Amino acid sequence: MATVAFIGLGNMGGPMATNLVKAGHTVTVFDLSEAACRQLQAAGAAVAASAAEAAAGVDYVLSMLPAGKHVAATYLGENGLLAGLDQATTVLDCSTIDAATARQVGEAAAALGIGFMDSPVSGGVAAAAAGTLAFMCGGSAATFEKARQILQDMGKNIFHAGPAGAGQVAKGCNNMLLAIHMIGTCEALEMGVRNGLDPKVLSEIMLASSGRNWSLEVYNPYPGVMEKAPASNDYKPGFMVDLMVKDLGLAMEIARQSDFDNPMGQLAGELYNRHQQAGNGQMDFSSILQMLQH
Ligand code: NAD
Repeated sequence: MATVAFIGLGNMGGPMATNLVKAGHTVTVFDLSEAACRQLQAAGAAVAASAAEAAAGVDYVLSMLPAGKHVAATYLGENGLLAGLDQATTVLDCSTIDAATARQVGEAAAALGIGFMDSPVSGGVAAAAAGTLAFMCGGSAATFEKARQILQDMGKNIFHAGPAGAGQVAKGCNNMLLAIHMIGTCEALEMGVRNGLDPKVLSEIMLASSGRNWSLEVYNPYPGVMEKAPASNDYKPGFMVDLMVKDLGLAMEIARQSDFDNPMGQLAGELYNRHQQAGNGQMDFSSILQMLQH
């Protein structure tokens, strides 16, 4: 069993840290929110007064923070965690952030002889609670081996995508594709319905044909087709439009930085931005169907 510092105990980090406690690790937590810390304390974790205090002398530092600026502030600079860490500590940032910051933290860690992996996740709050997240890791092969030993207590599929930053690139590619096939699925279903087809029957046809995809298979965006999908529950998330807009923004940044023209991803980004600006940020991302219906 390992000693672990866990920084960032929000909707995702809270259940992830809880699973590490349940697996028998010695977990010390820190979050700016005292309530979040108290919740983990009740689950069996120790609470530190700062991220640095939590990270002192541990085998692993894990973080699950909102964005790149929080990750940079936590790890980099004179007051950042990296400067005070032991070389035996492995750092795993599970937040979804821009690939450039992930590379920057990875390089700073490497210069100090500390193993770092960007390890963003696929799967939402339910997967975090169930311990079935998918991790996409960027870093060295040796760090990946260490990472796997702890990530397996929070997830099911653990991939080594490449060097530092590669986990964030993989996540950006995946979520861009998710947005594209969700919008495409909505468009196909709505066109069928406007021409008199039953969305359930059309879904069955496309599932048995070449239009089959994840949105259609497990997350049907048409109300009433799939009982457990957010569409059949007033589009309660699920996966919020706000988070999809964030992830598409990161994907656009990856495209820009690699001088890559991604017309489908850009259009998906524009449509989700418009949907968000119309006041739908807190709805599930499959509610993009409603925009197409207007
Ligand atoms: P959240 O806002 O619920 O939690 C973030 C937590 O970080 C908060 O408790 C906040 O107090 C804490 N925090 C912020 N700055 C801090 C600092 N400097 N030191 C310590 N704690 C700090 O967010 P979330 O939904 O848990 O998401 C976390 C990350 O996971 C994000 O990068 C998000 O994009 C990603 N993600 C979320 C989902 C999802 O469905 N919610 C799915 C996949 C990935």
